[in-house]
Amino acid sequence: MTTFEHRAHIALNDIVLQKNLKRGMNYFANARVTALAAAGDPLALRQRGKAIRDETVTHIGAHLTQLAANVERNGGVVHWAGDAAEARAIILDIAKREGVRRIVKSKSMATEEIELNHALEASAIETVETDLGEYIAQQAHEPPSHIIAPIVHKNKEQIAEVITKVAGRPIEADAIAINNFARAELREKFLSAEMGITGANFAVAETGSIVLVTNEGNGRMCSSAPRVHVAVMGADKVLPTHDDLAVLLSLLTRSATGQAISVYVSMLSGPRRADDVDGPEQFHLVIMDNGRSTFYGGEFQEMLNCIRCGACLNVCPVYKATSGHAYGACYSGPMGAVLMPGLGGLSDFGDLAHASSLCGACRDACPVMIDIPRMLVAWRQRVPHSRIEALLFRLTRIGMTTPLLYRLGVFFGRIGLKLFVRDGRIQGGPPLINRWTHGRDFPPIATRTFRERWKE
Ligand code: SF4
Repeated sequence: MTTFEHRAHIALNDIVLQKNLKRGMNYFANARVTALAAAGDPLALRQRGKAIRDETVTHIGAHLTQLAANVERNGGVVHWAGDAAEARAIILDIAKREGVRRIVKSKSMATEEIELNHALEASAIETVETDLGEYIAQQAHEPPSHIIAPIVHKNKEQIAEVITKVAGRPIEADAIAINNFARAELREKFLSAEMGITGANFAVAETGSIVLVTNEGNGRMCSSAPRVHVAVMGADKVLPTHDDLAVLLSLLTRSATGQAISVYVSMLSGPRRADDVDGPEQFHLVIMDNGRSTFYGGEFQEMLNCIRCGACLNVCPVYKATSGHAYGACYSGPMGAVLMPGLGGLSDFGDLAHASSLCGACRDACPVMIDIPRMLVAWRQRVPHSRIEALLFRLTRIGMTTPLLYRLGVFFGRIGLKLFVRDGRIQGGPPLINRWTHGRDFPPIATRTFRERWKE
């Protein structure tokens, strides 16, 4: 497995990617600010959102029990999955039992998290993503690079190239031409699929309803046209009441895409009833833990408040320079850097905690005020260092807290580091030091320190 550092360097040298990211991220970041300002008192709205999420996560067991009871009362079936393998097995089992050969999917990060598509395709079940961005990512054989805008890293020429290969004829680099092709392809899939799979942006405990937020209407098609609907959600997506939903929905759409409300908000409560004109014959809700319980009651619990809006990605200087693929995980950006070490383990994802300048922009943008920088520092303290690195940190601490050693360090450091100063910054340097100077503009030690100037 490559490191974040390695993948980030590849991204930084990709000029087209840099251009695409700048355009996409700036658009989203500006739209969020305007949309929140239009909500009247953005700070009060965010404080309400935070209070609701704090209360929900603190009493999550009770809310999940109520949700499950109401889903069953509505005629749905609830499945509890401890981990990704269990969630995949539950869904595969339903698909096999129902003789499913084709599945249409609406964008869902929960299913990305459990790598569901691979498992379905390994069982010879055709699985079609129907969100336009996800559809293009699937055709390009790439994972999404942003939780809200999966294909934001590509421009329309790159997208047309992907679609041209699928179509077997030239498709113009034009949004309408690309849309028309995808629409024609997907219509037939919607009508012939036996199963639809969606995520759940929220699940409301008081009525047992799941809520889908989309702009393309594909979520409604996936959940109503096929005869079986399976919704997959992380346990943290539960909300107590519809009043709570009104607050969080307003924060989600404004923070994600800068819309007061998305084009479609679908609330689904169980399978089709006798007098319904459409809807699935079966509704299954898969509620998965998959590592979330390791966050409960600890210093990372606050991360479970996340509503997956993506706002922290759009303002993060590291994400904006490297894109989602550099994180090597389904969740990227600041939220991913906190979530992944907990969900996927420190040994595979511990280096993501260093993928941050700790500038605090993510905390300022987060609609539910999650203190991401605090948790990144906490993860950094847990990442094991090599013996030599640990020794250097210890020596640095002693040097920084002992005035005489500090002064000696500055004196000799100023002389020693002169060898590595080029173009006004330290470049290269001895091993370990060069890991810092390689990716940063590291200034040389000042010719006169603050203490020296203060004396004068
Ligand atoms: S951490 Fe906050 S800003 Fe980032 S995705 Fe989650 S809710 Fe949105």
